[in-house]
Amino acid sequence: MKATIATLPGDGIGPEVMVEALRVLDKIGEKFGHEFITTESLIGGAAIDATGTSLPDETIKTCEAADAILLAAVGGPKWSDPTASVRPEQGLLQIRQHFGLFANLRPVKVYPALVDHAPLRRDLLENVDILFVRELTGGIYFGDRQEMGDGDSSYDTMLYTKSEVERVANVAFRAAQGRRGKLTSIDKANVLASMRLWRKTVVELHEDYEDVELEHLLVDAATMHMLTRPSSFDVVLAGNMFGDILSDEASVLAGSLGMLPSAALGADTFGLYEPVHGSAPDIVGQSKANPIGMFLSVAMLLRYSLQLEDEAKTIENAIDAVLADGLRTGDIAGQADKVVSTTEFTDAVLAKL
Ligand code: NAD
Repeated sequence: MKATIATLPGDGIGPEVMVEALRVLDKIGEKFGHEFITTESLIGGAAIDATGTSLPDETIKTCEAADAILLAAVGGPKWSDPTASVRPEQGLLQIRQHFGLFANLRPVKVYPALVDHAPLRRDLLENVDILFVRELTGGIYFGDRQEMGDGDSSYDTMLYTKSEVERVANVAFRAAQGRRGKLTSIDKANVLASMRLWRKTVVELHEDYEDVELEHLLVDAATMHMLTRPSSFDVVLAGNMFGDILSDEASVLAGSLGMLPSAALGADTFGLYEPVHGSAPDIVGQSKANPIGMFLSVAMLLRYSLQLEDEAKTIENAIDAVLADGLRTGDIAGQADKVVSTTEFTDAVLAKL
């Protein structure tokens, strides 16, 4: 296969983990006989410095010409003045909106080799393997908002339409069919009208997916269940705000932010893939960054945008094998582990590939 991937290294540790991800991608291309053409562009702070905007037109054009986008991280202290009119994160929101990427997929898996590094008891963490599907372009983050003239009151509106719920719920039901066949839908149907529409729509759609077991949880109860029975979840579907909060809560189960990938998908196979972590200014330039979230984002890109399941699995298995050998970047190291640099960790993954 021949495919074009637009790469956006961004800021901080972004370029450090991107370089390593491209080595992994090259190796997969070589092993499976694919030609991956990569085209690099600016986003975030690096783009502000060079062009005055966080998402230059040139970057959008390059992404439009690609089959998928691979992004590392944006932001950093240099651009963090809250009063600035141009900010690195704007580039991220704009690119998701430009490509209509309404479904955010965030897998959270606890690796057996890292179970003692995470904050919950070992028996609670065994077999945790959750896929969050979060609605990404609607809900309260995109509703009408207003600060009232008196300075003492303001409002945000949470609006969902049936079709917005249906399209993201379809993604979640299909994902559950390809996994362990269970979907947990999160809402606040006891209080919010928009969430009653959410539940009603998910219940109706369930008729098309009778092989999937459907569970509904109120968001407040879900925060507790996430800590008391995390291994009972398979696919978790939530709106924009509840999905944001719950997926961050669950991310600590994996032991480090550096481990987690994500995908933002739209109506077809085009998608944007990025690790969950930010630009980690505190460790930049020291080859301390954990590249696993970035590598797993490459695996998701191969799986969802290019339908290369075997290639994706091969990367995931190589990471499992390196962790099982006891190699760790500093953020996931225990006392007995061998701490290696970003590049050394990648070398070990390439050797397994
Ligand atoms: P962060 O994710 O950058 O860092 C939080 C902590 O986790 C830090 O101690 C960092 O060293 C550590 N960490 C993160 N990724 C790691 C990795 N791969 N390996 C090892 N350790 C890792 O979050 P922050 O400090 O809140 O934000 C820093 C900057 O990143 C800010 O400008 C923020 O706006 C931006 N940010 C960007 C994104 C994105 O690009 N999607 C997401 C979150 C934050």
